[in-house]
Amino acid sequence: EANERESMYLVSEYAQQYFSDILWESELGKAIGLSYFKERGFTDETIKKFHLGYCLDQWDGFTMAALENGYQLNYLEKTGLTIIKEDTSNPNNSKKFDRFKARVMFPIHSMSGRVLGFGGRILTNDKKAAKYLNSPESDIYHKSKVLYGIYYAKQSIAKEDNCYLVEGYTDVIQFHQRGIENVVASSGTALTPEQIRLINRLTKNITVLFDGDAAGLRASLRGIDLILEQGMNVKVCTFPEGEDPDSFAKNNDLEEVQEYLNSNSKDFIQFKANLLAEEAADDPIKRADTVRDIVNSIAKIPDAIKREIYIQECANIMKVSEGVLFSTLAQIGKKDI
Ligand code: ATP
Ligand code: MN
Ligand code: MN
Ligand code: MN
Repeated sequence: EANERESMYLVSEYAQQYFSDILWESELGKAIGLSYFKERGFTDETIKKFHLGYCLDQWDGFTMAALENGYQLNYLEKTGLTIIKEDTSNPNNSKKFDRFKARVMFPIHSMSGRVLGFGGRILTNDKKAAKYLNSPESDIYHKSKVLYGIYYAKQSIAKEDNCYLVEGYTDVIQFHQRGIENVVASSGTALTPEQIRLINRLTKNITVLFDGDAAGLRASLRGIDLILEQGMNVKVCTFPEGEDPDSFAKNNDLEEVQEYLNSNSKDFIQFKANLLAEEAADDPIKRADTVRDIVNSIAKIPDAIKREIYIQECANIMKVSEGVLFSTLAQIGKKDI
């Protein structure tokens, strides 16, 4: 319902302002939250631009402030900002908790700049606690439909006619500060068709940037087929071991970052064919699986001319005949119908 959603937006905007005020104006906020962001190399201007904030290490500091300012508990709960624990023996005594207690806050904005939800990061290296916590699904926050940073990136994506897709909040922010603004993050979820459509409205070109930890790489290759399916051109770029776009942009100047991106961005199909061919080596069974895998990706491309060109290139990379690739492609086409 539209009125309910509007109330959820309003309480989320209040929360963004509250967490930002805590960061800039309270002693603990400055000492803990602000100094954390400064240590990560973010400038005042950057911290303000992205409305970063801090939620104090208190049970219900934010919730109480929101209630005192007239926001209804109902909407605090619906947005997930407040967690309510019922007391079964006394329904009037339910307890309220701030979901994001003791976390630095990254507001997540819609294409038009409204606050949809938050990501909150713990400040310790406690391996048992989730490093990032996000707002739960709600009537205003559908994680499969949002891209972190899209509000700040949309003009630059259209102007550059390319979109960099990174993994995390801090990658987006550090790129902006370095001077690269056509960048958005999927924020830890597998890429969805809805997210790709948001980009597709602005450009047909995506460059996927992978953290240098290699953990996500194999798992993410399948998700990239979804980009091909929408008729978009995909490049991929990996970072050196132990680096991600955030650390790389923090430690290199704009020219170096641009030079790195330009010389390491590879066409996705070629990249995947080379990677799989290398892994399969001389093992005939692995090579057969690999051929099917790569042809599966090529089959997603709507444009027949592009498909043909990729078949020719992959035949070379995988050292099989074009004929066998075309017949595999034809078989996949039949199964799809
Ligand atoms: P940082 O530099 O702050 O450690 P990162 O962005 O480099 O964070 P990654 O471990 O590369 O973190 O993860 C990429 C993204 O995945 C994060 O930005 C976050 O959106 C999401 N993510 C990571 N860990 C978790 C988690 N435990 N729970 C939920 N989402 C997570
Ligand atoms: Mn990662
Ligand atoms: Mn990372
Ligand atoms: Mn990182």
